[in-house]
Amino acid sequence: MTDVRMGVVGCAGRMGINLLRQIDATEGCAIAGGSERPGHDAIGRDLGEIAGLASQGLTVVDAAPELFAASDVVLDFTVPAATVAHAALAAETGTRLVIGTTGTEAEDDAAIARAAEAVAIVRAANMSVGVNVLLQITQRLAGVLNEDFDIEVVEMHHRYKVDAPSGTALALGRAAAAGRGVDHDAVAQGGRHGITGERRRGDIGYAALRGGNVAGDHTVVFAADDERIELTHKAADRAIFARGAVTAALWLADREPGLYDMADVLGL
Ligand code: NAD
Repeated sequence: MTDVRMGVVGCAGRMGINLLRQIDATEGCAIAGGSERPGHDAIGRDLGEIAGLASQGLTVVDAAPELFAASDVVLDFTVPAATVAHAALAAETGTRLVIGTTGTEAEDDAAIARAAEAVAIVRAANMSVGVNVLLQITQRLAGVLNEDFDIEVVEMHHRYKVDAPSGTALALGRAAAAGRGVDHDAVAQGGRHGITGERRRGDIGYAALRGGNVAGDHTVVFAADDERIELTHKAADRAIFARGAVTAALWLADREPGLYDMADVLGL
C-alpha cells in the first residue's frame, strides 16, 4: 500500500513541529510538505531542519494551495482565520482535513461545517485518547448527578496560549451540559471577578490558569455539600495530540464527506 501523504499547515508552530515528527515516525504515512504564514522566518527552510529530523528535501512554503495539491490529508493546528481559509481550500480541492485549532467563533464553526459537506473533516479541540474518554465520562456523570452538584471546569496551559478557556475546557463543559440535557451557552459562567453574587444553581463555571510550559491540564469538579468528585487529565507532552491527529488523518484517508470528531476516530 502506498503511504498517505500528509501536509502540515503552520508547520513551524509548537504543534506543527510535533506533527511533522509524528508523521515521520508513523508507518503508512509520509510528509507531503509544510506551510507557514507569509513572512514567517521558516519559509524556504528544510522541513527536516524545522522539526529536528533528517533533511526532507522539502522546504516550508507560504502557499497553502500548493500544499493541498500535494497532500491526501492536511493537518491544521493554526489560528481560526487561517483554518477557515484552509477548510474552504479542502472543500475546493477534495483534500481531507484534520483540524485541531481552537478559539473559533460561531461563524467560523459554520464555515467549517459547510466545507465538511464537500470533504471529510475531523475536528476536535483535543486529539488525545485520554481527554476523549474523559469527555464521555463527564457526560455520563453529569447525567447521573443532579444540580445539587455544581460543575466547574478548571484548566491550566503554558504562558503562550492565546485563547481562554481552552477549547478542551469548553468541550468538557458542553459534554456536561449535554449529560444534563441543558443548553450550554445558557448556563456557562466565565472567569469570576469582583462582587459576582452567589453561584447560580445549574451553572457550569470555568477557570483558566496560565504559566510555564504546561501542555494542558483539565479538571472537571462536581461539588455538592460535603462531597466532591474531581476528574483530571494531565498532558505531559504535545506528542499525545500529534499522535491522535495522525491517527485521525489515517482514518480519514478513505472517508466520505462529513464532519467527524475523535469519538468517531477512536470508536468510542
Ligand atoms: P503556535 O502559535 O505555536 O502555532 C501556530 C502556527 O500556525 C504558527 O507557526 C503560525 O505562524 C502558523 N500560522 C498562522 N497563520 C497561518 C497561515 N495562514 N498559514 C500557515 N500557518 C499559519 O500554536 P500551537 O500551540 O501549535 O497551537 C495551535 C492551535 O492548536 C491552537 O488553537 C491550540 O489551541 C490548538 N491545539 C489543539 C490541540 C488539539 O489536540 N486539538 C492540541 C494543542 C493545541
